Amino acid sequence: MADADGVCHFLDRTTNLCTQYENRPIFCNVDKFYERYYVDNMTREVFYKINQQECERLRKLLGV
Ligand code: SF4
Repeated sequence: MADADGVCHFLDRTTNLCTQYENRPIFCNVDKFYERYYVDNMTREVFYKINQQECERLRKLLGV
């Protein structure tokens, strides 16, 4: 889904919003992803926390 610079081509670069938000891929939807793949393995709160930690790790790695 990424353009040559690594930015998702569904991102509106002017508004910084997803142009496909209501129909975005499941891996962009934390709740749907949790319900499909992790609901039997951990609580939603733990899943949110892991996602937050990974997001912060990637932001530091990418310097954003
Ligand atoms: S939410 Fe997903 S589909 Fe939308 S811009 Fe971000 S990466 Fe792309």
